[in-house]
Parts: sequence; structure tokens; C-alpha cells
Amino acid sequence: MPNFQKILHPEKFNLILYYAITSFVIIGLLSLAVGWIFPRMESEELVKRSEKYAQYFINHLNYEIYKDFLRPTLKKNKYIDLENNRDQLKRLDKVIHENTYGLNIKKLYLYDMEGHIIYSTIPEHIGFTIDRGQNAKLDSAIRGHFESALRLAGTTDSKGSYVVETLLESYYPFYEMKKNEHRGKQVGVLEIYQDMSELKKQIGKAREKAIIMTGSAMGILFLSLFLIVLKAARVINTRTNQLVEARNTLELKVEERTQEIRGAYKKLQLTQRKLIQSEKLASIGTLATGLAHEINNPLASVASCAEGLIERLKTMQDYKGHHDTREELEIFPEYLNIICNETYRCKSIISNLLNFSRQSEPKFDRININLVIHDTLSIVKHQFQTRFQGVRLNLSEDPCEVIGDPQQLKQVFLNLIINALHATEAEGDIFISTVIKQKTIQIMVKDTGAGIKPEHIDKIFDPFFTTKPTGKGTGLGLAICYGIIDIHNGRIEVSSEGTGKGATFTIILPLVA
Ligand code: ADP
Repeated sequence: MPNFQKILHPEKFNLILYYAITSFVIIGLLSLAVGWIFPRMESEELVKRSEKYAQYFINHLNYEIYKDFLRPTLKKNKYIDLENNRDQLKRLDKVIHENTYGLNIKKLYLYDMEGHIIYSTIPEHIGFTIDRGQNAKLDSAIRGHFESALRLAGTTDSKGSYVVETLLESYYPFYEMKKNEHRGKQVGVLEIYQDMSELKKQIGKAREKAIIMTGSAMGILFLSLFLIVLKAARVINTRTNQLVEARNTLELKVEERTQEIRGAYKKLQLTQRKLIQSEKLASIGTLATGLAHEINNPLASVASCAEGLIERLKTMQDYKGHHDTREELEIFPEYLNIICNETYRCKSIISNLLNFSRQSEPKFDRININLVIHDTLSIVKHQFQTRFQGVRLNLSEDPCEVIGDPQQLKQVFLNLIINALHATEAEGDIFISTVIKQKTIQIMVKDTGAGIKPEHIDKIFDPFFTTKPTGKGTGLGLAICYGIIDIHNGRIEVSSEGTGKGATFTIILPLVA
């Protein structure tokens, strides 16, 4: 089974080859068809001509027999009896031979109106009667119609004789002739057998002629079309080559463009990273203002505790031996505890800040999202201590493990939580939840605060889109969140019923398989 797809492939398709094969097949079939139809037509024509000739000849013979045999015989003998009167038979034989001499008449029969053979060029057939029911043509001729039948070589004729060469049997009504050569009433039927051996030769010749003519006509047509097809094939080839070349150039151009796009994408990633960094710095700025107060308090406690202890030490040294120092010593563990706790508190605040502001390439790791959320909340806690009571957590108890950069994800949650805290400044609550759905984890940061206007919702992730007054918001937070979630193969969505109706941010991340 040939692979047509391969053969018909535009680059493999050989127009000339296909044209040549198809043309040869069509020319062959047409030549055969014409070679069959044309000789048939020719043979029909020849049979028609022979019939016409037979009609003409029989008509003539009718007249000659009447003039040279019937009339003189009747005048002389008053009767006709060919079966018994040898003289009459000889005379009729002579008239017929004179008239058929040199013609292609093989046999001749003369019947009376009862189908009785009254004369034949084959003497032994004289006297027989042909059953009219068996020979429809003779029957029809007795009723006044001209009839003929072609007897092909190898078959038998109406008398049951084997036909060596093709014959045309023709029956013609035989008439009485008036003096003025006009026909009188029908008195019998004349039947002649014409030699049609020529027919075979003629058909052969006609076939030869037809094949030669069709073949040469088709050949000329084939050649002229071949020249056109050749030209077309050349044009197609040139165009195909041009197309292939164009395709190759296109591939090169596509490759170049891809490289450019790749470069641009890298630049974009770099810019995005810088943006993340600058947003981190901005967040640090915001946090630092709040945290200054936070750090001030513990530091003040540490300082006053330390001072108190120093004072007590001094007193103890001054009254060494004269004074009971137990009271001073009792205060020591309490003060030192306060110092320790407050110092650790400061340390934790500062290390969180440091972690957050550290510039880094994303470092992907297997992490638990719930822990990242807890870490983020501990950073926010210090800044929004009083309002933080309104934050409700509902985290999934199943392991929520994803592949991600904990620092970057912390920044995402921090942005969302700070935004929610800003939105609920006047009033409202914040809900943070994690749910496992199919093979993803959904992190939801929902608030019942200020809400988002419908006309803003589509712009919310655009960089620099902010509704906050100058100096308060950069409009980069959500854009950065979007970028970070994107490189984590996740997505971030927002929904809000409008102003005053709160907002919900949903992050969907793929879980570790
Ligand atoms: P910024 O906070 O600096 O304005 P963001 O990209 O974080 O930048 O936020 C863009 C804008 O989206 C905010 O100015 C605010 O109008 C809106 N927005 C973000 N979070 C919320 C929220 N939870 N409720 C209402 N509006 C919000």
C-alpha cells in the first residue's frame, strides 16, 4: 500500500510524472473506446449501404426476370413449372446468372406467396417450403416489407447452412411488372445472400484508423499539454523553492525573535526582581516607622532595668557589711529576666526585618505554607499589635506543602495582610484560611473592610495602581504578589462586592506531589 500522504506531499509531488501517467491511461482508454465505437459505426454504415444496394439490385432483378423470363415464358408455355420444366429452369438460371455475374451475390432464392422455393441458385433447395412461422423475415417480406439479417462467419444462416464468410441475407417482395414498368401485385419474395467478407476487413481497417487517429490526436494534445505542464511545473518548482527558502528564513527570524523575547523576558524578570526589592524596601520603610516605636519601648525597659541594677549594685558596694543586701539581690532575677525578654523581642523584630529585606534570587524549597503564614503574622504582629486581635486564622490541618521561596511568599502574605489591615482601619475583621482542594492549596485573605470599587478591580494588579494618598502607597504590592505567585506556577484572584463590602484575595498554589 503506497504512502499517499508522502506521495502527495507538496514538496514530493511530481507534477510531470503524474501528468504523464494520467495522460497515458486516459489516452489508452480513449483510444480503445474510439477503436471500439468507430468500427461499430462503420460496420453499421456498411450494412446499411449493402441493404440499399440489395434493394436496388433486387428491384432491378425483379424487372429483368419479369421481362426476360416470366413474360416470354408465359407467352410461350402459358404456365410456369420450374420444378418439372427443365427448360424453364435453365432459362431463368440464365437470366439470373447474366444479372448476378461479377457481383458479390453468393446465393439467390425465389419464393412464391406460400414460402415455397420455386427457384434457387442451389438447385437441390428448389421445391422445399420454408415454414413461415420459423422465418419471421420471410414472413414479413411476404407481407410486403423489405427485411435483412447479418449472418456472421462461424454461425448458421436461415437455411441451417454453416456460414464461412459473413453474409447479409436480404428479403424483398417480388412483384408482377406492368408494361410501363410499373409494379403490379406482389407474387412472391426474392432473397439474396451478399458476401460481406469485406466487412471484417473494413472493420479492422476502421479500428486501425480510429486508433491511429485518436492516438495521434491525443498524442498532439498530450505534447501540447505536456509543454504547458512542464512550464507550470517549472513555475511551481521555483515558487516552492522560494517558499521553502522563505520558510527557512522565517524559521531563522522566528528564532531571532524568540531570542529577543527571551532576552526581554530575562530583563523583565530582572526588573520584576528589582521591583520586588524596591517594594521590600518600601515595606521596610513603613514597617521601620512603626517598629521604631516598638523597639524603643523594650529598649527603654532594658535600659531602665539595667540602670536600676547598676544603682543597686552601687548601693550594695557602698554599704558593704553594714547593710542587709538581700532586698537588693531579690530584684536581680526579675530585672535580668525583663532585660533578657525585651532583648530577644528586639532581636526577633530585627532578624525578621533583615530576613525580609535581604536581596536574593528565588530559592525554591519544600515548605509548609501554614508555617510561612505564621512567620508573616509574627512580623505584622508588632506593627499592628492593638488591631491584630481582629485577625482570625483557620488553617488546614493537613500538610500544606508546596515548592516555593519562603521569603518571597512571606512578602506576598505580608502585602495582603497589610492591605487588609489598612482596609479595616475604620472597622472590620480579617480572616486567613488555607484549604486543600484537589492537588492545590487555596490561601484566602478575606476582610470585611473598605472593599474595592468595581471599576478598580481589573486594575488592582497593575503596577503603580494605588488609591492611597501620595507617600502612603506605592501601588507595587499586588503587582509584585502577582509576579511571585506566577513564578510559583500559581494564580492570585480578587473578588469584592464593592465599596464597604470587604475584599477577598485567593492564592492557588500546586501542592507537592
Ligand atoms: P498600595 O497598597 O501601595 O496601594 P497595592 O498594590 O498593595 O499597592 O494595592 C493597590 C490598591 O489595591 C490599593 O491602593 C487599594 O486601593 C487596593 N486594595 C488592595 N488590597 C485591598 C483590600 N484588602 N481592600 C480594599 N482595597 C484593597
